[in-house]
Amino acid sequence: MINGTLMNYYFHCKRQCYLHGNKLNLEDNSEAVKIGKAIHEEKAENSHNTEIAIDHIKLDKLTSEYLTEIKKSDADEEACKWQLLYYLWVLKQKGVIRKGKLEFVERNKKSKKTVIHELTKEDEVCIESYIKEIEALIRQEEVPPVREQKHCKKCAYYEYCFI
Ligand code: SF4
Repeated sequence: MINGTLMNYYFHCKRQCYLHGNKLNLEDNSEAVKIGKAIHEEKAENSHNTEIAIDHIKLDKLTSEYLTEIKKSDADEEACKWQLLYYLWVLKQKGVIRKGKLEFVERNKKSKKTVIHELTKEDEVCIESYIKEIEALIRQEEVPPVREQKHCKKCAYYEYCFI
């Protein structure tokens, strides 16, 4: 089953996507996706809080207007964007239409960058084809080769790939 993390990794590194998809999970538990986490709608005017559980995905914040994803770094903004668009697409399948907001909060919390994305028809077509591509990638027998890039040192699979 595809999830937002896989969508992110698909853009970041095909090998990372493959390893994660095949459950070679070396990631820090604190970063692990907490499946089934209940999401609270922010209290909107004239409505009371609504709890929404979205299967297979963890949403940072869902309000009446935005789905917000909070990221520690904008080092791979493209991967973050497609993860967010994937969530918007999943929500739309459930009849929930939202805009997306990416908040990049630096570790020192002194600076915050916010980027807004809206799911277009073209994005939806792309996401449907990316889902098929990711499924095919995960099913393949061979692990994609190591492709060294500057973010490898921060990857949970760094030791697996390089040591
Ligand atoms: S360490 Fe680099 S090559 Fe290995 S999975 Fe992570 S990002 Fe990909």
